[in-house]
Amino acid sequence: MIPYEVEYVRAGSVQQALSVLAQNPDAKILAGGHTLLPMMKLRLARPALLVDIGRLPELRGIAVHQDAISIGSATTHAELEASAELKQLAPLFPLAASVIADPTVRNRGTIGGALVHADPSADWPAVVLAAGAEMEIVGEQGARRIPADEFFVGFMSSAVQPDEVLTRIHVPLPAATRVAYRKFRHPSSGYAVAAAAVAIDVVNDGYAWGRIGITGVAEAAFRATSAEALLEGNFTDIADKVDAIVDAAFVDVSPLEDNFADGAYRLALGRVMLKRALLEALEPRG
Ligand SMILES: Cc1cc2nc3c(=O)[nH]c(=O)nc-3n(C[C@H](O)[C@H](O)[C@H](O)COP(=O)(O)OP(=O)(O)OC[C@H]3O[C@@H](n4cnc5c(N)ncnc54)[C@H](O)[C@@H]3O)c2cc1C
Repeated sequence: MIPYEVEYVRAGSVQQALSVLAQNPDAKILAGGHTLLPMMKLRLARPALLVDIGRLPELRGIAVHQDAISIGSATTHAELEASAELKQLAPLFPLAASVIADPTVRNRGTIGGALVHADPSADWPAVVLAAGAEMEIVGEQGARRIPADEFFVGFMSSAVQPDEVLTRIHVPLPAATRVAYRKFRHPSSGYAVAAAAVAIDVVNDGYAWGRIGITGVAEAAFRATSAEALLEGNFTDIADKVDAIVDAAFVDVSPLEDNFADGAYRLALGRVMLKRALLEALEPRG
């Protein structure tokens, strides 16, 4: 379908984007456009004005600080996939970026756009949950930080309000190094029918703990906290507990259903993806 006529402004700063949003209730932020523009073509979204933040230098790039990595919201999937700093310090991010859609989508789509849109089958939600990341959101009243656990509030719904901008994603350091991301791709879009992000940390005496993020299976990505409780303990015991951890992760989960995967199939895929991710995370990295 052909998009309807729409006003467009390229913001010169986050502050300018916020004031345009405040003055125009029908305006919407545009980042990579790989979700918003298809929705406009289908008339599922009808903003009167697009406020382009995709090229703002203050929203792009990856900065390493002593206790966290800070990722600009307009950083593309491809930039995250290629980042040498992330490969070394937070390898879960490039792992997941590499399996998002195809190179065209990865070159334009941004982590911020994906997080704000909160598609239940998107990849980044599982990753930020497993990484224990915090999202920095700015509005005219100031900035606030929201932990990933509180960011995804429902079906295609995030904590970011229409008059706010997600500016940065903060990933605490040191990040877990035993990580894995396993995804069953939808054969046409590449979105996750079911995917699991696992991050396990082992401290010197062999004590392990971890976080598990699941996407694709339910109406919003979620942290499998009951499964994480079973994961915690002696690292050498985890391999024996993998099946119990997988069982715990999907108790009480109401699965999504669509033409491609009914609920039972989706849950089964989620279990397989999580089991594979756990086993991969337990392997020593070469
Ligand atoms: C063919 C195809 C295949 C895809 N496959 C996958 C896949 O396998 N996995 C996956 O995870 N995704 C997939 N996607 C989605 C892709 O990753 C999108 O790029 C992403 O979801 C949205 O990012 P964007 O930068 O394009 O956002 P946009 O489309 O520009 O914006 C999306 C929404 O977020 C809002 N927004 C954007 N940035 C901000 C911000 N910083 N602050 C506040 N609001 C903001 C916009 O107003 C809009 O509502 C696919 C898309 C296509 C077209």
